[in-house]
Formats: sequence, structure tokens, C-alpha cells
Amino acid sequence: MIQLYIPLNFLGVIYREIKQSLTDLDKMFTLLEREREIADAPDAKPLAVQGAAVRFEHVSFAYDAARPILHDISFEIPAGKKVAVVGPSGSGKSTLARLLYRFYDVDAGSISIDGQDLRGLTQGSVRRAIGIVPQDTVLFNDTVAYNIAYGQPGATQQEVEAAARAAHIHSFIASTPKGYATMVGERGLKLSGGEKQRVAIARTLLKNPPILIFDEATSALDSGNERAIQAELEAAAQNKTVLVIAHRLSTIVDAHEILVMEKGRIMERGHHAQLIEQGGRYAQMWRVQQSGGAAADEPHGAAV
Ligand code: ATP
Repeated sequence: MIQLYIPLNFLGVIYREIKQSLTDLDKMFTLLEREREIADAPDAKPLAVQGAAVRFEHVSFAYDAARPILHDISFEIPAGKKVAVVGPSGSGKSTLARLLYRFYDVDAGSISIDGQDLRGLTQGSVRRAIGIVPQDTVLFNDTVAYNIAYGQPGATQQEVEAAARAAHIHSFIASTPKGYATMVGERGLKLSGGEKQRVAIARTLLKNPPILIFDEATSALDSGNERAIQAELEAAAQNKTVLVIAHRLSTIVDAHEILVMEKGRIMERGHHAQLIEQGGRYAQMWRVQQSGGAAADEPHGAAV
């Protein structure tokens, strides 16, 4: 029996190794594919930031030609202002953020920063100008300090710590035996969704870019931390150009413009008071949330 077990067990190990290699290869090709889609034009220029005004003009986009996702989207975020996007799950909110960060190019229309079309700019210069706090933060298999300072290789330990304090993750890091040298990521210390998000917030605070994208920035945080971090994010967002994809409408009442999306189209737009006055979808979502109901993109909130 043992004679049969050992080779079978060995085959099992080989099978797992091959499967893992295929998974890694798959990931690599996904990344390469993404890189290919957003290659710099031969004459690409670096972005020259003046005030960091963002403009989407008649943008249409599909990940797969057979299934259009965004239809004729136009809006502007004037320099230093905040535009919020709300709408049901799958309506295309995060896709707007991905296009602004230029993970993909638009199929029709254009996106520009300070009048410069993204397609004519170097990716590096565009990404240096934008900080994202995403829905799901993937950490690198490296130290917490590296993860916070990512993209800012010259950052000092004091700067890293100051950003971590502002994002309310410093005391957690300090409580681990190796502190900022603690390894995180898939092979290191496992962090909760909220802790990972706070690392992403610290990274963004340290990077201090002129454009910020908050993709449901506080969705993974418990309510105790939420208000304090919300205040930090608001302080960090002062005088910056901000695109926020919001769950809770109470965080966007001060937005310059709110876009209410559904199925890849802007169905309503205006500032908070105008939308309440209109008495449409947004007003109904607001009433549901005020009475303690679903978040803006949850099915109950969305069904309005
Ligand atoms: P949520 O609130 O759930 O995050 P969302 O409004 O941000 O949703 P998007 O993530 O922009 O929605 O997705 C819009 C549509 O695009 C969805 O139908 C989704 O399935 C599809 N989609 C998103 N990413 C991809 C991708 N990489 N490839 C193909 N389709 C995608």
C-alpha cells in the first residue's frame, strides 16, 4: 500500500505545483494584457499639472465589445472640486475610476486632465498625479513600511509614520513585534479588510497627489474608525480634485456635482439640494438611508 501511496502522493504534489504555476502564469498574462492595452504612444508627453481639472467628454467604453458598459458619459471636475458617483452595483462607477487611472483606453470620446488627453500622455506621469483608495487593497509581499511608502521611495520613516498615524493604523503597526518591518501580503501577516484599507489610505496621504479617487473608500472600515478616517480623508482632499464613488450619501452632500448612474448612463445629476428637490432616484435613496436603510449601491437602495 505504502508503495502505491508514495508515488500517488508525489503526483499530488506535482499536480499542485503545476496548478500553482498555471495560476501564476494566468496572473502574469492578465497583467501583461493590461500593460499592452495601455502602452504609451511613441510621442507621449508627461502630464503638466496646472490645477488638475478632469474632464470626461462623451466617453463610451466596453471591456468586451459585445457588452457595452459606459454610454456617452460627460462630466467635469473643476480643479480642487469633488464629484461623487452613486448608483447600483454594476452600473459602471468603478469603471470610471479605472479609465481615469488609465487601466484602459476609452472606445469613444475622451478623458483629459488640464486639457491634455490621457492617450497623449505617459502613463507614469498620469499615475503619479492620481492617488487611489480602492475597494479591495492588494498589498505587496513586503514590509508595512514598503507598502505605505510604495511609489515614494525617498520617503523617510517619520513621513511613513505620520501618514500611518493620520490613517489610524500606526498603533496597530506599533503593536506587532517587528513594527514597520512586519511582512504583510499573502505570505506575511494577514490584515483585515479595514486594516488593508487604512494602509492604502496612508499610502495615498503620503503620496499627496493633486487628484484623488476614493472608490467606496470607507466601505471596509468599522463605524468606530470610520468617522475619524473620514475626517482625515476630507482634510487630505482639501483643494484637491476628487472623484468619489460613494456608498453613504451623507459623505457627499458637499460635492460640486453628484452623478447618479444606472446601467452605464448618468440618469440624474446635480448637487445634493437640487437632487433632493427633483424628488427622483437620488431623493429616494437619501430617504432610505436617512431612515437607516441600505447603502446607495445595495440592491434595496438601488431599486429606487
Ligand atoms: P460595484 O458598486 O459593485 O463596485 P460598479 O458600479 O463600480 O459596481 P463596475 O465595477 O464599474 O461597477 O462594473 C460595471 C460592469 O462592468 C459590471 O457589469 C461588471 O461585470 C463589468 N466589468 C467590470 N470589470 C470588468 C472586467 N475586467 N472585464 C469584464 N467586465 C467587467
